[in-house]
Amino acid sequence: MPVIRPPSEWRSLLVRLTRGCRWNRCRFCGIYPHLGTPAFSVRTVDEVRHDIDLLGQLRPKAETAFFGDADPLEIGLAPFCEIAVYLRRTFPLKRLTCYARASTLSRLGQESISTLARAGLNRVHIGLESGDDRTLRFHRKGQSPAMVKKVAVWLKDAGIEISFYVLLGLGGRDHWQEHIAGTARVINETAPEFVRLRRLWLYGEDSGIGGAECPLWREIRAGTFVPQSPEGTVRELQLLLTSLDDLPTFIACDHENNYVHVVGRLKEDRKVMLAEIEGFLVRPVAQREAHYAAVGSRI
Ligand code: SF4
Repeated sequence: MPVIRPPSEWRSLLVRLTRGCRWNRCRFCGIYPHLGTPAFSVRTVDEVRHDIDLLGQLRPKAETAFFGDADPLEIGLAPFCEIAVYLRRTFPLKRLTCYARASTLSRLGQESISTLARAGLNRVHIGLESGDDRTLRFHRKGQSPAMVKKVAVWLKDAGIEISFYVLLGLGGRDHWQEHIAGTARVINETAPEFVRLRRLWLYGEDSGIGGAECPLWREIRAGTFVPQSPEGTVRELQLLLTSLDDLPTFIACDHENNYVHVVGRLKEDRKVMLAEIEGFLVRPVAQREAHYAAVGSRI
């Protein structure tokens, strides 16, 4: 079973093709080592087929499935497609998704992405995190806005839906405007089907889970990154929604770490979402502070 999956896949079959994250360098992350999977490894096709056979006995009518872990395409194009085809033969699937690093998709190239679509992959969850080049480089994400935009065109051509994850607070207090402006630019230019918002979570010894702390703490101690305030992340959300075009994109704050949970389609629901944020920001300061403290941070 994958250790981490998107909230939207909570009812999906969870099939693990790889373990952990091969990249494992993003400063804001380090989550797999923290949760006890410090090394990356690839499972064999036979192992995964065995899992699928077992799942077939448990939930033969499942209609959605998700491949883990962080970047299951690292198993290789041929094994990935073989497993995807086998899975689709076993279940009446309407949706097959996985996490995918933009750099892995870029390395695979356009033709391979079409091959993935033919094998039955029809949505990818991509950690955009930020559309600002400087922010991405600082956090060692291993992708650039240009790379993400190129890959998005290939995915759209292949008919694979895009679900981007954006991390509020990733620019810190000093670069939050650039972070949001760059992110809005990439979203406007790529028009993904989904944008899911998260807030930077800086876990450490107090996370209650144990394991290594978030690598970004080193930068915070050194003074090279100043974390955004809770209210600052709400203002980032407000600025992002204001900066986006009237896209058919579905926006969701579908994680409990978010201070304000807005959900809706940009084109139809932007006004309502912005009104919710404004309604929150005009509450008395003590009420807002109490809310931030109550939400806290958790995985
Ligand atoms: S954010 Fe994704 S790619 Fe980066 S280290 Fe974490 S799991 Fe790996």
